[in-house]
Amino acid sequence: MTDLHAFIAGLPKAELHVHHVGSASPRIVATLAARHPDTKVPTDPEALADYFTFTDFAHFIEVYLSVVDLIRTPEDVRLLTFEAARDLARQNVRYAELTITPFSSTHRGIDERAFLAAIEDARKAAESEFGTVLRWCFDVPGEAGLAAAEETLRLAVTDGLRPEGLVSFGLGGPEIGVPRPQFKPFFDQAIAAGLHSVPHAGETTGPQTIWDALRELRAERIGHGTSATQDPALLAHLAEHRIPLEVCPTSNIATRAVPDLDEHPIKEMVAAGVLVTVNSDDPPMFGTDLNTEYAIAARLLDLDAPGVAALARNAVEASFLDPAGKARIAAEIETYTSAWQAGRIA
Ligand SMILES: [Zn+2]
Repeated sequence: MTDLHAFIAGLPKAELHVHHVGSASPRIVATLAARHPDTKVPTDPEALADYFTFTDFAHFIEVYLSVVDLIRTPEDVRLLTFEAARDLARQNVRYAELTITPFSSTHRGIDERAFLAAIEDARKAAESEFGTVLRWCFDVPGEAGLAAAEETLRLAVTDGLRPEGLVSFGLGGPEIGVPRPQFKPFFDQAIAAGLHSVPHAGETTGPQTIWDALRELRAERIGHGTSATQDPALLAHLAEHRIPLEVCPTSNIATRAVPDLDEHPIKEMVAAGVLVTVNSDDPPMFGTDLNTEYAIAARLLDLDAPGVAALARNAVEASFLDPAGKARIAAEIETYTSAWQAGRIA
């Protein structure tokens, strides 16, 4: 491990764009697969590593759905959530906004109250056991249309259902053929209920989708926003209004949103003054983790340890933590970085 990799590994971090099911590491999938032996998912972690090697995007979706199929009971939901938090804590992630698509579970027959209770129970247990604070983004699977948006909104805003850890409302799934503006009424209601707006946009489509997310869905952060660099006016707008981008470099390569890491537009985003955060999206499925994404960003942006610490502070600033929570993690980053520079950590 190089010095910078060691620095990154110990650096307190915030993760803002990571999917719940997409966090299922081979270790977690093996446990779930053993519970449900009727599926074709291997239970041996080594065989799973091969299983997670994708030939193309269609193959990725197929594997992803086979993992979705392993999450059948509230206890599976709890296990996935708690163990995903363990994997984050091991990387010194102090705070994570986990994107959850409740529709995928409730639609498959998991009782909604039991589902919500399972994620909340895992959140509280993870915080007390690992010290990692989890918050939720409830995400509409765009391909499932307005009915899914209605259902997700109901779980997100109804008194007695809305989980305590919920902070934001999102939109994921394919962008092509799923225009963002159709979801405006749902985002309006989520925002009125006090939730933040965090749609994916401009991952596989052009800058117009990002404008739509900003104007129609009142996005406060953009998931990916990769194509923003195609529109200088948009970059200037994002910079001026301090609207952060959740950049996930390896994911962009895995889904072919960007052809090659060295062509990743993160450098242009930073040069334009945009608040860039680094995130992992579906880490085990893309063979990565947050520390690896920070190392990639450090290479692409030519950062040293204080530069990487600044990137970590961006994520804290862009998070939906309360001011005291932000100050606490920013102080942890500061303390760690000074100790590193003074040679007290090696
Ligand atoms: Zn995503």
